Amino acid sequence: MNIPLVDLQSLHKPIEEEILDAVKNVVKSCQFIMGEELRQFEEEFSRYCMVSFSIGTASGSDAIRFCLMALGIGAGDEVITAPNSFIASASPIIQCGATPVFADIEPDNYHLDIKKVEEAISERTKAIIPVHLYGQTVNMGPLYELAAKHNLKIVEDACQAHGAFYNDKRAGALADCAAFSFYPGKNLGAMGDGGLVTTNSQVIAEKIRMLSNYGQKQKYYHDELAFNSRLDSMQAAILRIKLKYLDEWNEQRRQAAEYYNHILRETSLHLPQSVDRNHHVFHLYVVRYPKREQLLKYLQQKGIGAGIHYPIPIHLQKGLGNLGYKKGDFPITEKACDEVLSLPIFPGITKGQQDYIAQNILDFEKSNLPV
Ligand SMILES: *Cc1c(COP(=O)(O)O)cnc(C)c1O
Repeated sequence: MNIPLVDLQSLHKPIEEEILDAVKNVVKSCQFIMGEELRQFEEEFSRYCMVSFSIGTASGSDAIRFCLMALGIGAGDEVITAPNSFIASASPIIQCGATPVFADIEPDNYHLDIKKVEEAISERTKAIIPVHLYGQTVNMGPLYELAAKHNLKIVEDACQAHGAFYNDKRAGALADCAAFSFYPGKNLGAMGDGGLVTTNSQVIAEKIRMLSNYGQKQKYYHDELAFNSRLDSMQAAILRIKLKYLDEWNEQRRQAAEYYNHILRETSLHLPQSVDRNHHVFHLYVVRYPKREQLLKYLQQKGIGAGIHYPIPIHLQKGLGNLGYKKGDFPITEKACDEVLSLPIFPGITKGQQDYIAQNILDFEKSNLPV
C-alpha cells in the first residue's frame, strides 16, 4: 500500500468540475488581480472566522510580516515566538527589521511555555506570536494576561489552524490580528501560494491593505512605500469553493485523529492529547517516539509517507546563525524535534489506510527491543 502524508489528489477529485468552472469564470472575466472574487472570498472568510476584516496576501509569511508592520514593529524591537515551528513563524520578524526571541515549549502540546515567554520579555519586547501548531489553538487566556501586564501585542500564527476554535472563537479572532497561509497542503489550501490577515481593527485592516498593495488607496497615488503582495483572483475563486468544504474536511481529520488515538493506544508512541480540546483541526497528526529515525525509515519502506515537522528547530537553522543561539538553548524543543513524527492525515483517509499504518507500527515495535 502507498499512503502519502497528504493526498491532495483524492481531496480534489470530487470538486474538480466546480474548481474548473470557477477558474474558467476568472479567465473569462480577465480580472486577475483584486476584483470581485477576492472581495467575496475575503468577506466569506471573515464570516467564517467571525471577524470584521480579511485582507488577502501573497503568502502566509507576508501576512505575518504585514501584521507586525501594521502594529508598528520594526528596528530595535523584539518579538517572541516558538522555536519548534516552521521558519516563517520567525523570518518575517527579521524582514520587518525586528529581532526574533525564542522561548521553549510545553512538551505535551508543543505550544510556547507561558513561563518561558515571561522570562524572555525585555524592555524591547513589543509582541508575541503564538503558533497554533499542528491545528490546535494556543491556550490564549494566560497569554492575554501576560500581554496586558507588559503592554505587548499578539499576532496569531494561524497558518496551520483554519477552523480551529479557542472557546467559542475561531483561530483568527483571538488577537490583534492573525495570519493564515493557503499553501496547498494546509487545511484550506489554494492551488499556488496565498495568505491572508484577519483582524477586528479597521485601522490595522486599512494599514495592511496599503502594505500589500503598493501603499496606494487610489491607483498611482502612493501614500507610503510598500509591497506587492496580493492574493490573486484565481486563487481566491478556488479558495471560495474549498472554503465551503472546510468544516466537513476538518471533521474528517478529527475523526481520523480519534481513530489513530484508538488503534495506536497499545503502542509505546506518545499520542496527541484528546481531540476535543479546543476543536483541534489536525493539520498534522504528530506522535513522539525516541527511535524516530528508525521508525520513519521503516514506515517509508512500507510505502507510508510519514514526515517530520520539523527536524531542525528555528534557533539552530543556519540562516539564523547570526542571532547567536546554540544547541542546548531550548532543550524541550530540541528533544521534540528529535522525536516528533507526523503520520499521514487528510480528509478522506480510510480506516483501511490507518489500520495498515498502525499494523506496521506494531510490527516495527515487535521487531525492536522496547526503549
Ligand atoms: C505554512 C506556514 C507559514 C507560512 O506560510 P507560507 O504561505 O508558506 O508563507 C507560517 N507559519 C506556519 C506555522 C506555517 O505552517
